[in-house]
Amino acid sequence: MKAGVVIPGKKDSARLVEIDMPSSSNGQVFVRLLEVGIDGTDIEINSGNYGDAPPGKDFIVLGHEAVGQVVNPGTTKLSKGDFVVPMVRRPDGCVNCRSGKTDMCIEGNYRECGIKGEHGFLREYLAEDSDFLVPVPKELRNIAVLTEPASIATKGIEQAIEFHNRSANPINIAVVLGAGPLGLLTTALLKLHDYSTYTFDIVPRSSLKAQLVESIGANYLDGNESPVVSLPEKIGNLDLIMEATGNSAIAFQAMCALGTNGVLCLMGVSTSQKPLEVNASCLNIQMVLGNKMVFGTVSSNRGHFERSIEALVRIEEKWPGWLSCLITRRLRLDEFAEGLRPSPDNIKTVIELD
Ligand code: BGC
Ligand code: ZN
Repeated sequence: MKAGVVIPGKKDSARLVEIDMPSSSNGQVFVRLLEVGIDGTDIEINSGNYGDAPPGKDFIVLGHEAVGQVVNPGTTKLSKGDFVVPMVRRPDGCVNCRSGKTDMCIEGNYRECGIKGEHGFLREYLAEDSDFLVPVPKELRNIAVLTEPASIATKGIEQAIEFHNRSANPINIAVVLGAGPLGLLTTALLKLHDYSTYTFDIVPRSSLKAQLVESIGANYLDGNESPVVSLPEKIGNLDLIMEATGNSAIAFQAMCALGTNGVLCLMGVSTSQKPLEVNASCLNIQMVLGNKMVFGTVSSNRGHFERSIEALVRIEEKWPGWLSCLITRRLRLDEFAEGLRPSPDNIKTVIELD
């Protein structure tokens, strides 16, 4: 079967290869993959800065955002024709992994399909344990490829709300930094909570990203007009900030802008090695006197996948067609390397496998 692979550590090594068909064992599910989303992590891996091949291999099959259809359910409760989204992390046996919290793995020997030590989903077929396959309703078939990034946002928001609950004042204002796919999904999830939501980016107001923000009742903030540090003055006490740019300078500005009792969730991975000068004492005292909290979040477990699917259903009901507008580029498997190159105005690239 065909697969899109990269050689970890080697820049621009993306290529299409022929690999063996998987053989399903011990009641595993045989899945035909339908669509795979490309994100910043895939681009990082292809730039040689991130990712590890499976043991004994020099390449890794890319792709960790996917939707597929069951060809043979094996001995599981799934049925032929069911749509499923594969989870990304595989456990290492630590206390968190054993309790299903692979996203909180403490030993760090987890594997991540398409990222670290395990092949991903940019291939025609997959044989997988049903523990790692999350069923999706067929109405979501065309946007279910967004489940994995939505699960990351779901986890971040759930934790931020939990942490904010240490104070009695409610969350009134939520800010999302970055209007890429993760930022836009985060915006929609926050709107489901009915928070006054503001999404910040540096694209013009006329851009599709800005229009998608405003079309679901959130407010677009143009960073060229108002930098992050000016936001409290403009909109009030920032109770929640969800950072989705992966730009560490923006993350530190967000710490300054965070409101009293506020919670800042960092979701973006920054690989830039450039040192950054910050006023540490100022940050320290503001954090202390304002009861502020900053935390990072990575990956997601089965519960986050399941709740993100419920949220996607609600988003589709509330704003029909909005989610499919996030997918601005569709390529075939033999064109996947093209999808790893940045393209202006593009939001989400999806590789179609069927
Ligand atoms: C993926 C996560 C993963 C993280 C770090 C992200 O792009 O969505 O599942 O844990 O990269 O590898
Ligand atoms: Zn673990």
